[in-house]
Parts: sequence; structure tokens; C-alpha cells
Amino acid sequence: MRGNKRMTTLSIMKFGGTSVGSADALRAAALLVRAEHAKGTQVAVVVSAMSGVTNLLLDGADIASRGENGWQDLATTLQARHADTVAALLTTAAEQSLVNERIATHIGEFRALCHAVEVLGEASPRALDAISSLGERICMHLMAAHLRESGCAAEAVRAMDIIRTDATFQAARPDFEVTRDLCRTRLLPLLRNRSVPVITGFIGATASGAITTLGRGGSDYSAAIIGSVLDADEVVIWTDVDGVMSTDPRIAPNARTLPTVTFREISELAFYGAKVLHPLAVRPMIEHGGTLWIRNTFNPAGPATRIVADSSAPSASEPLKAVTAIKDQSLVTIEGRGMLGVQGIAARAFGAVARTGTSVTLITQASSEQSICFTVPSPNSSRVVAALNTEFTGELVRKEIDRIWDRPSVVIVSVVGSGMSTVPGIPGRVFTALGNQQINILAIAQGSSECSISLIVSTEQSDDSVRAIHALIVA
Ligand code: ADP
Ligand code: ASP
Ligand code: MG
Repeated sequence: MRGNKRMTTLSIMKFGGTSVGSADALRAAALLVRAEHAKGTQVAVVVSAMSGVTNLLLDGADIASRGENGWQDLATTLQARHADTVAALLTTAAEQSLVNERIATHIGEFRALCHAVEVLGEASPRALDAISSLGERICMHLMAAHLRESGCAAEAVRAMDIIRTDATFQAARPDFEVTRDLCRTRLLPLLRNRSVPVITGFIGATASGAITTLGRGGSDYSAAIIGSVLDADEVVIWTDVDGVMSTDPRIAPNARTLPTVTFREISELAFYGAKVLHPLAVRPMIEHGGTLWIRNTFNPAGPATRIVADSSAPSASEPLKAVTAIKDQSLVTIEGRGMLGVQGIAARAFGAVARTGTSVTLITQASSEQSICFTVPSPNSSRVVAALNTEFTGELVRKEIDRIWDRPSVVIVSVVGSGMSTVPGIPGRVFTALGNQQINILAIAQGSSECSISLIVSTEQSDDSVRAIHALIVA
């Protein structure tokens, strides 16, 4: 909880890939920072890499690990994209040469790392983090230099110096105690001096200085971590849509902005695929008590979403708020008539899954009672099935378990709304809407918090399912 009394408001402004994806976008983002700063607010900025850059960096690592040519061209593309942005954005020779020098250094690092990966024939998670960190590390210089040129004191701050994580490369978790000290020592003096720290999102470092990343989309988490350890009044996630919407507007163009969403609702939405906010970004904000906003960089005066406490009364008139989909899942089933009498099957099954390093996305009961069904990300499913076959060799031989199989290419469609627990008949309406569109539901799960229902459908029917349920929300 926020304890320190501070006279001035502190705002963490996080800009996503599209919001820093071109010189024009960077200008628009900087304008928002300057407007906030001019009000007397203390502002810390968190930036993502320019849109598409992290993917290109990871593509380079992948190509290099296969010993193929092509990463050299990607290095040239990345160099040119950033240098063109410098030319279009920065106006003073001093800032241009400073940022160009950084770009050259980081692209040089990219080449050296890809070369090492090529020689080894393998990209370790640690190497992938060092490579994928480079987009943010270049972008912070673009933003900081442009802010300075437009008359706003700003300083680039590497998250490696202020976010301490464990060594789980590609999904590192922060040590909040150490991070709190590092952030406060480095950032508070800047903020007090009215300088804007421009911090790399997405990354951190271990105690021994190895670069880590928080996972794809992790810049939102960076902003929430920094907001919580600095006791910020607000964290604003500036993105390319008008806040959290009733569904992904790319799937249903009639999606509308949700003015308020509770922490529980946003947790479910983010976990089940609403990319607009990283699922881990929610908890630090709940715990420290600041305000969390999602706003559109390109429509700053337009509709936006404020995340509010769960205690806010759920709306019975709007029991369904949003629908979302998480793609590229496999439905794993353990099936057998002899299973009922055998104790501890579920515990052993999930133990075996956990040992493969896989997180289960959803557990459900299919139509048959003599089965255990759950979903896992598709890339992990063959590993999971192999581990289960090993775990249950005896049961398979004794025919207590008939078979363990996976159905690839399924999608979890989740409908969220805390009002649904108070309104009877919601599941029925959802199933009817899908039935009317001839959509086949493979399995069903009701969220424990009673604010979501999740359905498994085939990938081909995913977008139609989302639109059918969305029609109930906007009706
Ligand atoms: P950023 O680069 O700013 O972090 P992301 O691409 O990670 O942006 O997230 C924003 C995108 O999330 C939007 O462009 C939109 O397509 C997608 N999205 C998915 N579900 C939702 C939703 N319910 N509301 C708003 N956007 C959503
Ligand atoms: N640039 C990183 C990614 O593309 C982090 C982020 O955008 O949040 O995953
Ligand atoms: Mg994002």
C-alpha cells in the first residue's frame, strides 16, 4: 500500500510497440509525456521496442540457430529502421550522433550474439533474452533524445540497473525488495529534479548482471513493477486501441470501450488472451493501490478504461462485459473406464505435466465422467502426452486408463463479467448463441471466481464464436 506522503503526483506512462513504432508515433507519445509533465506531475516513462522489432530480433536468433543465412540481412533492416527514425525524429546533430552511436553498438551486439548462436547451433534462453532485449534498449534512446530536444529534461535508464530478477530467462520474475531499493535510488532523484526517466520495458537483470526478459508483452509488467515500488499514483498503459474493449476490435469492429473493469475481470481477460494488458501487470497494482488506466496514444481524448476495485458493485444490467480468445491450445484427455476406482490420478497427472515445465491453461470436465481434460499450449502438447504415457504406464497396461490423447488446434473462448454470478441463465444464453451458429463446444469450464465462463472450440470456429458471444454483449 502507498505510504509515503508526496506532494506531487507521480505517473508511470508506458508506451507499447505501436505507440513508439515510428517517428510520428514517438512524437505523439512525447507530446503526452510533456503535457503531463507540464502540469507539474512527476513522470517516468516505460517504453517497448518499436513495433515488430522484438519479433525480428527473435527471428534472427532462430535463423542463426539453424545455421542459415538471413540474420545478417535482418541486422541491416533493424539498423536502417532505427536510423531512419533518428533522421525523421531528431533535429540536433548532437542527439542524432548520440543515438546513432547507440544504434550501431546494439546492432553490433545483435550481430555478435547471432554469430555466437550460429557457431553453437543453438539459442539458449539466456542468449534469446540478450538478443530480444535490444529493441527496448535502442528505443529508450530515441524517446529520451526527442524529449530533451523538445525541452523536457529526460534520461535513458536501463531496466537492467533497476529491475532485479531471478534467472528464469524468458519468463523472469522480479525480486521486489531489491528492485524497490534499486528503483528508488536511481529514479527518485531524477524525478525530484523534474527529469523524466525513460526506462526500457520488458527487461531486467539477475544479481550477476545477466540480462533477462519478463516474457512477451512484458513491458506492461515492467510499468506495474515500477509503479508499485515507487508508490506511483497511477500507471497509464498507452496503447493503440481505446482501452479495454468488449472484445478484440480486430475480430469484431463493433467492439466498444469498457469505461471500468474490475481487477478480477481484467485478470481473467488478460489471462485468457486479451493482449491489451499483460496478465502479470495486474497484481502489483492491486497490492500497492495506485490507479491503472488503459488509454489510446492516438486518441488521447477518446474513451479509456480505468481498472477499479473488485468491491465496485457488479452490474446486473451488464452481466457480460467482454469476450476473449486464447489460441494455439491443445486439449489433452486422459480417458478410461477403470479410472474411477484409482486414487490420486489427477494429482499424478498434473505432477507429470508440471515436470515438463508446462502451465495448464484450463481444467475441465468433458461430457464423459471417466476422463480428465485440460488444455495446454500446443507447442508443449506432445511433450505433455509423452510424460503422461510414462507416468501411467502401469494403468495403461492394466487397462485402467484406455488412452491419453491430445486434440490439437483448439481455442479457449472466455466470456467475462462479474455481474454474471448474480444473474441466472447466463450460460444458457451463451450456449444458445453458439448453437445458433452451429458451433460445436468441445468442453466447458466455469471460472472459480464466478466471473467467467470458458469454452473450448476448434480453431476454425474461434472468431465466429467470439462474434456470436459478442453479439450478446453489444445487443
Ligand atoms: P502494445 O504494443 O501497446 O502493448 P498490444 O498489441 O500488446 O499493444 O495490445 C493491444 C492490442 O490488444 C490491440 O491492438 C488489440 O488488437 C488487442 N486486444 C485483444 N483483446 C482486446 C480487448 N478486449 N480490448 C482491447 N484490445 C484488445
Ligand atoms: N517488446 C516486447 C514484446 O514484443 C515487450 C512488449 O512489447 O511489451 O514482447
Ligand atoms: Mg502489449
